[in-house]
Amino acid sequence: SDEREVLTYELFGTAARELARQVADDGFEPDLILSIARGGLFLGGALGYALDVKNLFVMNVEFYTGVDERLDLPVVLPPTLDAVDLTGADVLIADDVADTGKTLELVRDFCAGYVSDVRTAVVYEKSRSLVQCDYVWRRTDAWIDFPWSSLPPVRTRSDRPAH
Ligand code: 5GP
Repeated sequence: SDEREVLTYELFGTAARELARQVADDGFEPDLILSIARGGLFLGGALGYALDVKNLFVMNVEFYTGVDERLDLPVVLPPTLDAVDLTGADVLIADDVADTGKTLELVRDFCAGYVSDVRTAVVYEKSRSLVQCDYVWRRTDAWIDFPWSSLPPVRTRSDRPAH
């Protein structure tokens, strides 16, 4: 359908604050926040300030591994997060949206072997997500326009290397 859920930067600020409140009220005190790049970097940074967590990590996950090559499952791109960084930690994973939930499932499962506790926070969760996130701001099944990706890049890169 043409239905769209539009998130503005203004509303994102409210969302991040309310998600931080959910985490705090739940008594969860993460040792580190793990953002899923690129969409989860905004929430990860905002939660870092709101929850007074300075230990921020990034995992880069994409569905694409090469030019026009799409896999059934998302893949982790290098540099890979060192498992030592996670060992014994209480981890809060931050992402923009759990849609199919496959990206979050991959990252959560990556962490699960090392961490003490791993929980997930997202701005949006769709009903089909196979991961039920611990902290959700809003639920929708519409396509979401995020403020950071609603405009095209200011210039296109012709020198983009295949990854
Ligand atoms: P997944 O299907 O693995 O849960 O979602 C993977 C990624 O696809 C999300 O982190 C997000 O970057 C992108 N994505 C999924 N649904 C939407 C959407 O409704 N709007 C936008 N802009 N991106 C989405």
